[in-house]
Amino acid sequence: MTDNDELLAERRRRSLGPAYRHFFSRPLYLTRGEGVWLFDNDGRKYLDCYNNVASVGHCHPHVVAALHRQASTLNTHTRYLHHAVVEYAEMLAATLPGDLSVCMFVCTGSEANDLAYQIARAVTGNDGAITTSGAYHGNTTLVTELSPDSGRRRPAPDYIVDVEAPYTYRGTFGAGHADYENAYADLVDAAIDTLRERGKAPAMMIIDNIFDAHGILTPGPAYHQAVYRKVRAAGGLMVADEVQSGLCRLGEHYWAFEDVDVIPDIVTMGKPLGDGHPLAAVVTTPDIAAAFANTQHYFNTFGGNPVSTAVGRAVLEVIANENILANVGATGRYLKGGLDELAARHELVGEVRGKGLFLGVELVTDRADRTPATDAARRVVEHMRESGVLIASTGAHSNVLKFRPPMVFRKEHADLVLAALDEALTETV
Ligand code: PMP
Repeated sequence: MTDNDELLAERRRRSLGPAYRHFFSRPLYLTRGEGVWLFDNDGRKYLDCYNNVASVGHCHPHVVAALHRQASTLNTHTRYLHHAVVEYAEMLAATLPGDLSVCMFVCTGSEANDLAYQIARAVTGNDGAITTSGAYHGNTTLVTELSPDSGRRRPAPDYIVDVEAPYTYRGTFGAGHADYENAYADLVDAAIDTLRERGKAPAMMIIDNIFDAHGILTPGPAYHQAVYRKVRAAGGLMVADEVQSGLCRLGEHYWAFEDVDVIPDIVTMGKPLGDGHPLAAVVTTPDIAAAFANTQHYFNTFGGNPVSTAVGRAVLEVIANENILANVGATGRYLKGGLDELAARHELVGEVRGKGLFLGVELVTDRADRTPATDAARRVVEHMRESGVLIASTGAHSNVLKFRPPMVFRKEHADLVLAALDEALTETV
């Protein structure tokens, strides 16, 4: 860091306060982005293997042009009629299966999940909520309670019950268990019983379909289908949090829940929708939307404004025009193959997980005991940054390296990541 960077970091400490964190021990000061590349204030180039918000690449010209065009024409809100808002809602709905056709717009994933709970409560008449222990769903007061990973430091309120996530590498049921998916799903019965003992029933269960904060998990259809059956039988709705896993990220379908053959009652989306612009949404069925509207009106000052929705539309156009879904599938398989190959050579790697361009590499100090290699993970992340590749870590022990680049990532970029990781793993042992 130069003196100027130190000064800026100090001003940031004073003006933003201590709750904020930097990714790296030496703060990274980024000043420009283009596609999969980021540039710092010294003009140094970094390969971005972490940022899913810049879903179709940093500063994509088609998206920037759409933003500029609409921002130079009109920006109001959803209490006026505007074609951009309606057209985007129609386009977004067209990416979803079943009856999921009504879009309500917000600005963040947190707001989307908060609204999902309000809808579920209004529609079911219940107020219980089930979440997975280790999950992160956002930062409103309610959603913080639904996010055991947010550093929730006190017991959850009595209407929220956590269930263990299907983490076969460390959880109660390992991959060797004959029917681990149903075994994990059965834990939801206990959660429903707990709510019942408290005189409550579930309004919803919320699942992040890539279990990002848990360390990236991809249980199969049996798990999801059993959970959906149980929650619905108890009168609750299923909420798919696609803030991380959605919009082609897993490389097979637009939405992760499609990979496991379920159709949620409510889908929440955020991060990737606006390629960096704050655009998020709740999508549900006409029946659920109507039942919610019977209980209250909905308005969000910024959510779904004409500029945001013009941006969202441009992102969907890029996804179609540039064949993004197929690219995520092909590049993701290639990157995962390379990570598997590194796992075979580096003792530090316990397990490689994930799908599409959302991959995790769990580091352990020894493979037999599976002791989390938290410190090594931190050093690998820092080492890769020095080599010009940006990643981060996730999971309860921060020992799972996370690879989640813009979806315009290609095989040649994957090669750069694999070479940098090979070197970092070699030097970190
Ligand atoms: N859901 C999931 C799965 C998330 O990972 C996040 C953010 N990391 C959120 C919701 C909240 O989104 P936001 O930060 O836009 O409020």
